[in-house]
Amino acid sequence: MTDTQKSKSHGRLSIAASLKPRDLIEARPRLKGAWKAKVITLFPEAFPGVLGQSLTGRALDQGLWALETINLRLFGEGRHRNVDDTPAGGGAGMVLRPDIVGAALKQAAAGTPADRAAWPVVYLSPRGKRFDQAMARRFAQAGGITLLCGRFEGVDERVLEHFRVEEVSLGDFVLTGGEIAAQALIDATVRLIPRVLGNQASTEEESFSEGLLEHPQYTKPAVWEGRAIPEILLSGHHANIASWRKAMAERLTKERRPDLWRAYCAKHGRDPEEDQEL
Ligand code: SAH
Repeated sequence: MTDTQKSKSHGRLSIAASLKPRDLIEARPRLKGAWKAKVITLFPEAFPGVLGQSLTGRALDQGLWALETINLRLFGEGRHRNVDDTPAGGGAGMVLRPDIVGAALKQAAAGTPADRAAWPVVYLSPRGKRFDQAMARRFAQAGGITLLCGRFEGVDERVLEHFRVEEVSLGDFVLTGGEIAAQALIDATVRLIPRVLGNQASTEEESFSEGLLEHPQYTKPAVWEGRAIPEILLSGHHANIASWRKAMAERLTKERRPDLWRAYCAKHGRDPEEDQEL
């Protein structure tokens, strides 16, 4: 193995890179048919990253979902395994080459359905459709997903067209690379897979599940710094608690997210200007 074929290691484990990655991620058990993320990246050592912690990490260890990184560098050309070149037409920065990215996408496609609904192929990009809870639900219902993480100025447009790649943005800001965005997308998606969260009901009541932000939460102590938990929450009266929470969720949404509030009112035949009684 030449120096350029060795993957960098920032942790205790040194993982040899090869075209058939068989790293510690793949060495985990995978339940048959478990949802899988294939991530094309120049920085495979950044994975599983924070996804290896807590509930997502435990679920990964249990094989409830799986992760495979595909090292884009291994598809690079020449002694230095170049993956990028200067932008046609001039300008700052470098662009990831279509032939290099295409070869990685082709490898990722092996063993996955060609139907994009059954297996979405996504390029994380600030130009993409804004990621949201509905998209996370759609991705969780697929068999898995292929994620392409960009770097530098991004990816040659032709490879996105050729492979019918969907562009998804984390929000209206520019990151240095797609890896953090990919981890955020995977986190939001795998927590919707049954049994990943211990308590599935918690995804049904949280923010965005009904188009509303979540009501405020409280826990012990009952009084803290002179502030008491709202009395109704200690009343044990479940119906009253549920309607209080609903009213709080509606008020918060109206105050903080007029866009969500208008959509919610339209869906429920309500007047967005109506006064909230609390
Ligand atoms: N020149 C590009 C930005 C490149 S940023 C432009 O102006 O559109 C480098 C890489 O970071 C991108 O290829 C993309 O993969 C990732 N990235 C940056 N911002 C992102 C965002 N808001 N959401 C998802 N990925 C993002």
